[in-house]
Amino acid sequence: MRSKRSLVRRMVKCGLRLVLVILVLFAVQVSILAYPQMFVHNKVESGTITLYYDGAPNADLEQLAWMVDQRLQGCGYYDSTRADRVFLIHSDGIYDILVRLSLLHGRPQGFNLSLFGNSFVSVSRVRALGESSGGLPRFSIWEGDLAHTIAHEVAHQYVTDRLGRGVWRRLPHWKREGMVEYLANIGVIRQDTSATIPNRLDVLNNDHVWRATQGWSDKGWDRIHYEAGLLIEFLIDIQGYILEDVIAESVTDVDTRAAMLVWRAGR
Ligand SMILES: [Zn+2]
Repeated sequence: MRSKRSLVRRMVKCGLRLVLVILVLFAVQVSILAYPQMFVHNKVESGTITLYYDGAPNADLEQLAWMVDQRLQGCGYYDSTRADRVFLIHSDGIYDILVRLSLLHGRPQGFNLSLFGNSFVSVSRVRALGESSGGLPRFSIWEGDLAHTIAHEVAHQYVTDRLGRGVWRRLPHWKREGMVEYLANIGVIRQDTSATIPNRLDVLNNDHVWRATQGWSDKGWDRIHYEAGLLIEFLIDIQGYILEDVIAESVTDVDTRAAMLVWRAGR
Protein backbone atom coordinates (compact mmCIF):
# COMPACT_ATOMS: atom_id res chain seq x y z
CA MET A 1 0.00 0.00 0.00
CA ARG A 2 2.78 2.34 1.03
CA SER A 3 4.80 1.61 -2.15
CA LYS A 4 1.68 2.27 -4.26
CA ARG A 5 1.27 5.68 -2.59
CA SER A 6 4.92 6.57 -3.05
CA LEU A 7 4.68 5.54 -6.72
CA VAL A 8 1.71 7.91 -7.21
CA ARG A 9 3.61 10.66 -5.39
CA ARG A 10 6.62 10.14 -7.65
CA MET A 11 4.44 10.24 -10.77
CA VAL A 12 2.78 13.48 -9.63
CA LYS A 13 6.21 14.99 -8.95
CA CYS A 14 7.45 13.96 -12.42
CA GLY A 15 4.30 15.41 -14.01
CA LEU A 16 4.74 18.71 -12.16
CA ARG A 17 8.40 18.86 -13.19
CA LEU A 18 7.42 18.25 -16.83
CA VAL A 19 4.80 21.03 -16.69
CA LEU A 20 7.39 23.34 -15.13
CA VAL A 21 9.92 22.57 -17.88
CA ILE A 22 7.29 23.21 -20.58
CA LEU A 23 6.32 26.52 -18.94
CA VAL A 24 9.96 27.62 -18.71
CA LEU A 25 10.58 26.73 -22.39
CA PHE A 26 7.42 28.61 -23.39
CA ALA A 27 8.52 31.64 -21.35
CA VAL A 28 11.94 31.57 -23.03
CA GLN A 29 10.33 31.31 -26.48
CA VAL A 30 7.95 34.23 -25.83
CA SER A 31 10.72 36.36 -24.29
CA ILE A 32 13.01 35.91 -27.31
CA LEU A 33 10.25 36.74 -29.80
CA ALA A 34 9.00 39.70 -27.77
CA TYR A 35 12.48 41.13 -27.02
CA PRO A 36 14.85 39.94 -29.77
CA GLN A 37 16.91 43.06 -29.06
CA MET A 38 18.37 41.01 -26.18
CA PHE A 39 20.45 39.27 -28.86
CA VAL A 40 20.25 41.60 -31.87
CA HIS A 41 21.02 44.94 -30.29
CA ASN A 42 22.83 47.10 -32.87
CA LYS A 43 20.37 49.62 -34.19
CA VAL A 44 19.77 52.60 -36.45
CA GLU A 45 16.70 54.81 -36.45
CA SER A 46 14.91 56.86 -39.07
CA GLY A 47 11.47 58.42 -38.60
CA THR A 48 9.17 55.74 -37.19
CA ILE A 49 11.54 52.85 -37.97
CA THR A 50 14.04 51.33 -35.56
CA LEU A 51 16.16 48.85 -37.47
CA TYR A 52 17.97 46.34 -35.25
CA TYR A 53 20.66 44.22 -36.87
CA ASP A 54 23.24 41.58 -36.04
CA GLY A 55 26.90 41.72 -37.02
CA ALA A 56 29.22 44.71 -37.31
CA PRO A 57 27.98 48.34 -37.33
CA ASN A 58 27.01 49.28 -40.85
CA ALA A 59 26.44 52.87 -41.99
CA ASP A 60 24.47 51.71 -45.09
CA LEU A 61 21.68 50.56 -42.81
CA GLU A 62 20.88 54.18 -41.86
CA GLN A 63 20.07 54.78 -45.51
CA LEU A 64 17.99 51.58 -45.58
CA ALA A 65 15.95 52.63 -42.51
CA TRP A 66 15.38 56.02 -44.15
CA MET A 67 14.21 54.39 -47.39
CA VAL A 68 11.73 52.19 -45.51
CA ASP A 69 10.35 55.19 -43.65
CA GLN A 70 10.07 57.14 -46.93
CA ARG A 71 8.17 54.27 -48.58
CA LEU A 72 5.70 54.17 -45.71
CA GLN A 73 5.33 57.97 -45.70
CA GLY A 74 3.99 57.63 -49.23
CA CYS A 75 1.30 55.05 -48.41
CA GLY A 76 -1.43 57.34 -47.06
CA TYR A 77 -1.64 55.53 -43.71
CA TYR A 78 1.59 56.84 -42.19
CA ASP A 79 1.46 57.99 -38.58
CA SER A 80 4.56 59.86 -37.39
CA THR A 81 3.86 58.85 -33.76
CA ARG A 82 4.34 55.15 -34.56
CA ALA A 83 7.43 53.23 -33.46
CA ASP A 84 8.02 50.12 -35.56
CA ARG A 85 10.74 47.62 -34.72
CA VAL A 86 12.44 45.65 -37.47
CA PHE A 87 15.07 42.94 -36.97
CA LEU A 88 17.27 42.67 -40.03
CA ILE A 89 19.09 39.37 -39.65
CA HIS A 90 22.34 38.69 -41.50
CA SER A 91 23.07 35.35 -39.81
CA ASP A 92 21.12 32.45 -41.36
CA GLY A 93 21.52 30.51 -38.10
CA ILE A 94 19.87 33.23 -35.99
CA TYR A 95 17.13 33.73 -38.58
CA ASP A 96 16.36 29.99 -38.66
CA ILE A 97 16.05 29.93 -34.87
CA LEU A 98 13.61 32.87 -34.98
CA VAL A 99 11.56 31.17 -37.73
CA ARG A 100 11.40 27.93 -35.71
CA LEU A 101 10.48 29.72 -32.47
CA SER A 102 7.70 31.49 -34.40
CA LEU A 103 6.41 28.07 -35.55
CA LEU A 104 6.40 29.16 -39.20
CA HIS A 105 6.32 26.77 -42.13
CA GLY A 106 9.10 27.07 -44.69
CA ARG A 107 11.62 29.88 -44.61
CA PRO A 108 10.01 33.17 -45.65
CA GLN A 109 12.15 36.16 -46.58
CA GLY A 110 10.47 38.06 -43.77
CA PHE A 111 7.62 37.83 -41.28
CA ASN A 112 5.76 39.99 -38.81
CA LEU A 113 4.68 39.01 -35.31
CA SER A 114 1.96 41.59 -34.75
CA LEU A 115 1.32 40.40 -31.18
CA PHE A 116 4.78 41.66 -30.19
CA GLY A 117 5.04 44.47 -32.76
CA ASN A 118 8.19 42.94 -34.25
CA SER A 119 9.11 42.33 -37.89
CA PHE A 120 11.96 40.07 -39.05
CA VAL A 121 13.75 40.01 -42.40
CA SER A 122 16.50 37.69 -43.67
CA VAL A 123 19.17 39.56 -45.65
CA SER A 124 20.40 36.43 -47.47
CA ARG A 125 16.91 35.22 -48.36
CA VAL A 126 15.90 38.57 -49.90
CA ARG A 127 19.18 38.83 -51.81
CA ALA A 128 18.96 35.22 -53.06
CA LEU A 129 15.53 35.85 -54.57
CA GLY A 130 16.75 39.04 -56.27
CA GLU A 131 19.88 37.35 -57.63
CA SER A 132 17.98 34.37 -59.03
CA SER A 133 15.59 36.58 -61.02
CA GLY A 134 17.76 39.61 -61.85
CA GLY A 135 15.47 41.67 -59.60
CA LEU A 136 12.44 41.29 -61.87
CA PRO A 137 9.58 41.80 -61.88
CA ARG A 138 9.86 45.00 -59.88
CA PHE A 139 7.42 45.33 -56.98
CA SER A 140 7.30 41.54 -56.64
CA ILE A 141 8.85 39.04 -54.20
CA TRP A 142 11.64 38.63 -56.80
CA GLU A 143 12.74 42.25 -56.57
CA GLY A 144 15.35 41.43 -53.93
CA ASP A 145 14.90 44.88 -52.39
CA LEU A 146 15.38 44.96 -48.62
CA ALA A 147 13.42 48.22 -48.33
CA HIS A 148 10.45 46.60 -50.07
CA THR A 149 10.52 43.48 -47.87
CA ILE A 150 10.95 45.45 -44.64
CA ALA A 151 8.17 47.88 -45.59
CA HIS A 152 5.97 44.86 -46.42
CA GLU A 153 6.46 43.34 -42.95
CA VAL A 154 5.94 46.68 -41.17
CA ALA A 155 2.80 47.21 -43.27
CA HIS A 156 1.44 43.95 -41.80
CA GLN A 157 1.76 45.68 -38.44
CA TYR A 158 0.01 48.81 -39.77
CA VAL A 159 -2.96 46.81 -40.97
CA THR A 160 -3.36 44.62 -37.87
CA ASP A 161 -3.05 47.68 -35.60
CA ARG A 162 -5.65 49.54 -37.64
CA LEU A 163 -8.18 46.75 -38.26
CA GLY A 164 -7.59 44.54 -35.23
CA ARG A 165 -6.10 41.06 -35.14
CA GLY A 166 -9.52 39.36 -35.17
CA VAL A 167 -10.55 41.07 -38.42
CA TRP A 168 -7.11 40.47 -39.90
CA ARG A 169 -7.28 36.73 -39.21
CA ARG A 170 -10.61 36.39 -41.02
CA LEU A 171 -9.49 38.20 -44.17
CA PRO A 172 -8.83 36.18 -47.33
CA HIS A 173 -5.21 35.85 -48.38
CA TRP A 174 -5.49 38.26 -51.35
CA LYS A 175 -6.71 41.08 -49.09
CA ARG A 176 -4.07 40.53 -46.40
CA GLU A 177 -1.13 40.43 -48.78
CA GLY A 178 -2.64 42.85 -51.29
CA MET A 179 -3.15 45.58 -48.69
CA VAL A 180 0.37 45.10 -47.43
CA GLU A 181 1.92 45.11 -50.90
CA TYR A 182 -0.03 48.26 -51.68
CA LEU A 183 1.18 50.06 -48.53
CA ALA A 184 4.78 48.94 -49.04
CA ASN A 185 5.03 49.94 -52.71
CA ILE A 186 2.59 52.68 -53.59
CA GLY A 187 4.90 55.52 -52.53
CA VAL A 188 7.56 54.28 -54.97
CA ILE A 189 5.07 53.31 -57.68
CA ARG A 190 3.63 56.84 -57.81
CA GLN A 191 7.10 58.22 -58.55
CA ASP A 192 7.63 55.85 -61.47
CA THR A 193 5.71 56.87 -64.59
CA SER A 194 6.32 53.47 -66.21
CA ALA A 195 4.69 51.62 -63.30
CA THR A 196 1.07 52.26 -64.28
CA ILE A 197 -1.60 49.70 -63.44
CA PRO A 198 -2.02 48.73 -67.15
CA ASN A 199 1.74 48.27 -67.53
CA ARG A 200 1.87 46.07 -64.46
CA LEU A 201 -1.16 44.08 -65.67
CA ASP A 202 0.96 43.31 -68.75
CA VAL A 203 3.73 42.07 -66.47
CA LEU A 204 1.24 39.97 -64.50
CA ASN A 205 -0.04 38.31 -67.66
CA ASN A 206 3.40 37.66 -69.16
CA ASP A 207 4.28 34.02 -68.35
CA HIS A 208 7.84 34.55 -69.50
CA VAL A 209 8.48 37.11 -66.76
CA TRP A 210 7.45 34.65 -64.07
CA ARG A 211 9.50 31.73 -65.37
CA ALA A 212 12.06 32.18 -62.56
CA THR A 213 9.34 31.22 -60.12
CA GLN A 214 9.12 27.66 -61.42
CA GLY A 215 10.22 25.25 -58.75
CA TRP A 216 10.18 27.92 -56.06
CA SER A 217 6.53 27.70 -55.18
CA ASP A 218 3.94 25.30 -56.60
CA LYS A 219 1.23 27.70 -55.57
CA GLY A 220 2.76 30.69 -57.35
CA TRP A 221 2.57 32.98 -54.32
CA ASP A 222 4.79 35.52 -56.07
CA ARG A 223 2.26 36.09 -58.85
CA ILE A 224 -0.68 35.89 -56.45
CA HIS A 225 0.83 38.62 -54.24
CA TYR A 226 1.64 40.77 -57.27
CA GLU A 227 -1.93 40.56 -58.52
CA ALA A 228 -3.33 41.12 -55.02
CA GLY A 229 -1.34 44.36 -54.77
CA LEU A 230 -2.78 45.49 -58.10
CA LEU A 231 -6.35 44.64 -57.04
CA ILE A 232 -6.04 46.64 -53.81
CA GLU A 233 -4.38 49.52 -55.65
CA PHE A 234 -7.29 49.56 -58.10
CA LEU A 235 -9.81 49.63 -55.23
CA ILE A 236 -8.04 52.39 -53.30
CA ASP A 237 -6.50 54.60 -56.00
CA ILE A 238 -9.08 54.22 -58.79
CA GLN A 239 -12.30 53.42 -56.96
CA GLY A 240 -11.64 55.57 -53.87
CA TYR A 241 -11.91 52.87 -51.21
CA ILE A 242 -10.12 53.02 -47.86
CA LEU A 243 -8.81 49.94 -46.01
CA GLU A 244 -12.01 49.71 -43.95
CA ASP A 245 -14.05 49.46 -47.20
CA VAL A 246 -11.80 46.76 -48.63
CA ILE A 247 -12.42 44.36 -45.72
CA ALA A 248 -16.17 44.08 -46.49
CA GLU A 249 -17.12 40.52 -47.52
CA SER A 250 -18.98 41.96 -50.52
CA VAL A 251 -15.61 43.03 -51.99
CA THR A 252 -14.35 39.93 -53.79
CA ASP A 253 -11.28 39.26 -55.91
CA VAL A 254 -13.46 37.99 -58.78
CA ASP A 255 -15.53 41.20 -58.94
CA THR A 256 -12.48 43.45 -58.45
CA ARG A 257 -10.54 41.66 -61.21
CA ALA A 258 -13.51 42.01 -63.59
CA ALA A 259 -13.96 45.72 -62.74
CA MET A 260 -10.25 46.38 -63.24
CA LEU A 261 -10.28 44.78 -66.69
CA VAL A 262 -13.38 46.79 -67.71
CA TRP A 263 -11.67 49.98 -66.47
CA ARG A 264 -8.54 49.14 -68.44
CA ALA A 265 -10.45 48.39 -71.65
CA GLY A 266 -12.24 51.73 -71.39
CA ARG A 267 -9.04 53.78 -71.19
ZN1 LIG B 1 3.12 39.29 -46.14
